[in-house]
Amino acid sequence: MVNKYLYLNTIGCQMNVYDSEQIAMRLAALGYQQTSSLENADLVIVNTCTIRAKAEQKAFSFLGRLARLKKKKPGLITAIGGCVAQQEGEKIFKRIPYLDLVFGTQAIDRLPSLIQMIDQKRCRIVDIEQADKPLFQEADDGIAATDQMSRFVTIMRGCDNFCSYCVVPYVRGRETSRHPDDIINEIQQYAQTGLKEVTLLGQNVNSYGKKERLCAFTELLSRVSQIEQLLRIRFTTSHPKDFDQDLINAFRTNEKLCKHIHLPVQSGSNRVLKRMNRKYTKALYLDKVAKLRDTCPDIAITSDIIVGFPGESTTDFDETLELIRTIEFDGLFAFKYSDRPNAPSADYDGKVSDQQKKDRLQILLDLQETLTRRKNQALVGTCLPILAEGFSKRQSSGNLNQPDQAVQWTGRTSTNKIVNFYHDGNPASCNDICPGQLVNVKIEKAYSHSLWGKAVEGKAAAEELKGERSYAA
Ligand code: SF4
Repeated sequence: MVNKYLYLNTIGCQMNVYDSEQIAMRLAALGYQQTSSLENADLVIVNTCTIRAKAEQKAFSFLGRLARLKKKKPGLITAIGGCVAQQEGEKIFKRIPYLDLVFGTQAIDRLPSLIQMIDQKRCRIVDIEQADKPLFQEADDGIAATDQMSRFVTIMRGCDNFCSYCVVPYVRGRETSRHPDDIINEIQQYAQTGLKEVTLLGQNVNSYGKKERLCAFTELLSRVSQIEQLLRIRFTTSHPKDFDQDLINAFRTNEKLCKHIHLPVQSGSNRVLKRMNRKYTKALYLDKVAKLRDTCPDIAITSDIIVGFPGESTTDFDETLELIRTIEFDGLFAFKYSDRPNAPSADYDGKVSDQQKKDRLQILLDLQETLTRRKNQALVGTCLPILAEGFSKRQSSGNLNQPDQAVQWTGRTSTNKIVNFYHDGNPASCNDICPGQLVNVKIEKAYSHSLWGKAVEGKAAAEELKGERSYAA
């Protein structure tokens, strides 16, 4: 098999990260190894996202930079996939004339034969299927799982919700769920090669399997949790309108389900929520959060907010700030609204100026930073099980008795907070930790975006933990 190099640039959400993994696995069968060097690449693929204007600009600016490389290396194959490719189709060739392939979100299975065809015939190809055609021909025959300890697995694609600012239902198609047996098989394959944590992906996991009458999402969670080697299960995303008591209860009953939920609220104003077509009110959202905290007091809640949606007044924005103060999210992903082609809100009146959007975003981020710091600060002194991911950036092989110079690891709490920690022992004992291992860490410092602590394992840990809070993973 010829060894060639693939440079894969992934832009956007976890769904795209998952798709990129599938792309890399399929192309490995053709002899393509991934490289981080653009200059060495024989094939460059940009996997795009169209949810925000900025992500789309980023993709085109990357493709624009390839002109020089293509001139230098005429055999180089260049391709665009993902949502921008699905949405724009062959129009992209007009903008980027040296591009070889435009493939849609459902053409990943065919990618090896498309690349082979371009390689042999030096032709240009567009492969965009209609978004409502069947998905998931992911039998994974002959695809070797890699030894990652954490990965995403898509359980459904597309969306039926039609939020007025969003193009997902148009570019990713209507909601379709994978059969639970396929999902379990895929995770089992990964588990045999070291998978410890899985994140189940869907635009709205609450409606998993409903159309196809497969099984409830909580039942799927329960089946996944029976895979012995797995330590943790996460999922994203859950739509507030469909978030129900069964799923709330799963946080208490399913021991492998991590204590974190990402529940996008988007706005705290009923007027704006209605224009967004979100199909819930502020009161309903607050009620679900209250039930969730009642059932699982330790749960971390994160959310998405769009600032400057068309027609958002100062009062509407104040209501969003009020909601944030009331709920005290653990973290927020906040974005300035941008018009997307084909999204109904692009035609809405009452556009908010860019400066106002910028100002509102800053106010919101400042508020959230205070709340996040306070929440993180409250964890100082507690001991938390961390799933070790690897060395942190500050890793050094210096003096292990000096925290700042000790070998530093990084990992996450069940509540999805990043923890950098050092192993307080002799150098040999650092070898005891390996990626995918649960390590008890005593939290010593809190920052805005991470925590910092000391690993306390074995007997020493038991003594250190006396009288302190310890959370289950
Ligand atoms: S729920 Fe709304 S925002 Fe989320 S993917 Fe569907 S249409 Fe888009």
